[in-house]
Amino acid sequence: METLWTRTARNKIVPDTALPGQVDVAIIGGGFTGLTAARELAGAGRSVAVLEASHIGAGASGMNAGFVVPNFAKADPIAVRNKLGSERGDILLRLVGDAANAVYRTVEEDGIVCDARQTGWLNPAFGAAGAEMLKARAAMWRDLGRPVTFLSADEVREQTGMDIYSGALLDAEGGTIHPLDYVRGLAISVQSRGGTVHEGQRVDEVQRDNGGWRLIMRSGATMRAGKVLLCTNAFTTGAANKMGRSVVPLRVYQIATTPTDPAIVQRIAPDARPVGDTRQNLFTYRLDRDNRLISGGMAAIPLGAFARLGRSVAERLSTELGLAEPVRPEVVWTGTAAMTPDFLPRIYQMGDGYFGGIGCNGRGVAMTAQLGRVLARAAIGEAPESLPIPLRTLRPLPFHSFTPIVASAALLQARLKDRFSK
Ligand SMILES: Cc1cc2nc3c(=O)[nH]c(=O)nc-3n(C[C@H](O)[C@H](O)[C@H](O)COP(=O)(O)OP(=O)(O)OC[C@H]3O[C@@H](n4cnc5c(N)ncnc54)[C@H](O)[C@@H]3O)c2cc1C
Repeated sequence: METLWTRTARNKIVPDTALPGQVDVAIIGGGFTGLTAARELAGAGRSVAVLEASHIGAGASGMNAGFVVPNFAKADPIAVRNKLGSERGDILLRLVGDAANAVYRTVEEDGIVCDARQTGWLNPAFGAAGAEMLKARAAMWRDLGRPVTFLSADEVREQTGMDIYSGALLDAEGGTIHPLDYVRGLAISVQSRGGTVHEGQRVDEVQRDNGGWRLIMRSGATMRAGKVLLCTNAFTTGAANKMGRSVVPLRVYQIATTPTDPAIVQRIAPDARPVGDTRQNLFTYRLDRDNRLISGGMAAIPLGAFARLGRSVAERLSTELGLAEPVRPEVVWTGTAAMTPDFLPRIYQMGDGYFGGIGCNGRGVAMTAQLGRVLARAAIGEAPESLPIPLRTLRPLPFHSFTPIVASAALLQARLKDRFSK
């Protein structure tokens, strides 16, 4: 699918062709999670092969909007502590809190060209209750030692040109990247550390084999591995099937406009900060390196959604940002995000030395930089109790095929809530 990122990417990868017969760790899925894990493991001296069914960036890692946001979309620090207890909860919060830094550190260490800008992430609030909620949230993050502040309504107006907000949370460590250049850059990093990256290798089965594992590809090829990491996100094809059914797949549409006038840029993003507000049907925008506006949305009714969403997201941008000339989409694309019922990421143990990681809930650009590392630690043999994400047993969601209908209903309900919440 053509996206803004396929049009503007600068990194190119040359996939490896010869499959190794045996590796220490086989990694299924060539997105941020799998490639981050592979980069870590190759750096730690393990032989690794990344097996990607399609091409690098074919999944959400190549389709997303490139917001780098170090928190959980719908789980406040307090909710995380309530769920996991304060000790384990704080470990997970520290992990996600350092996730944006982990991305930008990797980019810097490996010199990845991907328009990386750590300008801070702006999270504007609606109404007095929204402002109070974000004030409390900002204080909770500060208690954890993070640079998160609360901005007044006037300060948000200066940052966005919008006067509908009652305040905003500013996370100084958030920012933006070019996701396709980042994921391709990670693949190049894996190769430069001695790992191999294979495209067009869909893994259909993972079987126990003589104390290790045998991977059987759709191409007919096989590979032996001591350990296996499943990093296939919302996909349900082949070996991904069972883990993919443990999440709610959410189809998200993205648009990029033609480049924006510099005077408008100065008004709506003087510090080039990406914006995502607190509405249920959230409003987001950021700029790419050529000042195209990037925004997104979801469709309650899938029929004809591609063309309809392209138009409606552009209209919303023009209205919300008060643009005299309506913007038009230069390119529209779509991808599938993986949502867990509690909005927290999961690590599954699927067998002895076989682990899966999933569920970054629309925050995966930052969170996968940690999820991939935690999976690498599991593959190296670290004790489960010392991993910052608790290991679970995989249980697919009952009625998984009906979850898109539930998601559509939730979206309609969210729009109604927004209408009556101001
Ligand atoms: C439209 C959209 C916008 C988003 N915007 C943002 C954002 O701005 N900020 C943010 O933080 N997050 C965002 N997200 C979420 C983020 O992109 C994801 O959380 C993240 O990319 C997940 O990375 P991953 O490596 O786990 O999965 P993926 O990138 O989906 O990679 C999984 C890979 O596994 C491969 N695969 C599947 N089955 C098999 C098999 N059997 N054998 C071999 N390979 C297989 C697939 O081809 C795919 O390449 C967005 C998601 C979408 C869809």
